[in-house]
Amino acid sequence: MTNGDFNGVMVFSEDEKIVIELLSKGRELADKLNTPLSAVLIHTDDEAVIKTLFAQGADKVYKVSPPTEQVNTEAYMELLFKLLEEIKPQIFLLGSNVTGKELAPRLASKFNTSTATDCIAANLDENNNLKIDRIVYSGNGVATQIFNTKPQIITLALQTFKPLPRDDIRTGEVIEKAMGTLEPKVKIIKTSERTSEALRIEDAEFIISCGRGIKNKEDIQMIKDLAVNLHGEVGCSRPIASDLKWLGKEHWVGLSGHKVKPKIYIACGISGQIQHLAGMRDSDIIVAINRDPEAPIFNAADYGIVGDIYKVIPALIDKTKSQ
Ligand code: FAD
Repeated sequence: MTNGDFNGVMVFSEDEKIVIELLSKGRELADKLNTPLSAVLIHTDDEAVIKTLFAQGADKVYKVSPPTEQVNTEAYMELLFKLLEEIKPQIFLLGSNVTGKELAPRLASKFNTSTATDCIAANLDENNNLKIDRIVYSGNGVATQIFNTKPQIITLALQTFKPLPRDDIRTGEVIEKAMGTLEPKVKIIKTSERTSEALRIEDAEFIISCGRGIKNKEDIQMIKDLAVNLHGEVGCSRPIASDLKWLGKEHWVGLSGHKVKPKIYIACGISGQIQHLAGMRDSDIIVAINRDPEAPIFNAADYGIVGDIYKVIPALIDKTKSQ
């Protein structure tokens, strides 16, 4: 296979929310390359999902049959490798979730090509090769990389690419791919659903986040009280979740924690180091409360309150009681 044989843009994620983000960037790249945008469906053959893929930008859907209902990287890998070998897309986009990050390097090594994960930008260079940006050195730099081999396989950072508006008029071609069932080497014997109370901070529209400005574990209660009043979720910086363990990892925001994009993010006693900003800087509105007027968080904030969180937060709780 030569580099010239590859054509088109293809996306895959088992997570519908992620696939919609991939289709948005994929549509842009496919239009620039004047090639079709296809989506792969492995885990389901649900008609409603297929309709969504078209409504969000896909021209073609490759429906693998029979569907592999359990998330299984090994099975996905085999099926995707066969499909990519046959269809030969130039660009293959995956999400930066666990599955995507496991698949990208494995597929790339099978094709003897390169890969990049957690891309925050993806465009084309003058030769129509994929050109990506990714954060490196703990958030202190951005690396720009250009692919010169194909297929060009990357994972896109989550919550970074805005979904296209849904267009239910759009439709496309469904191509059934009978792949047969695989005998996976790893057998999944049990999966447990997340309980409904379990936090997915990535989905929160309102986050009240705390950092080392909190002096005692018990004081996190005031952050929780404010979150209840504002119908929001509690987030935190790394020291609170990782070093002090005052909150679980599901609350941890940042480069090595969760990437969030709420409508409002209130940072309480958080200095605003680059690794924290990497996880929340795309929030629509950032409010910072910090007693140090020089704290870097104020450079990222839309609104800043210079003050002691032990005075400001109780006042906010009081004001928002009946909200
Ligand atoms: P500090 O930096 O100690 O800041 C505390 C702030 O509270 C200060 O600005 C202070 O002025 C203010 N303050 C203190 N008391 C009060 C008060 N009473 N009222 C108001 N303000 C007050 N960090 C993350 O958060 N997320 C990550 O994912 C992450 N990943 C990392 C990955 C790597 C590889 C590395 C090296 C670091 C990472 N970090 C991450 C750590 C990061 O560099 C910072 O150390 C961390 O974000 C600091 O947390 P903080 O702002 O809570 O604490």
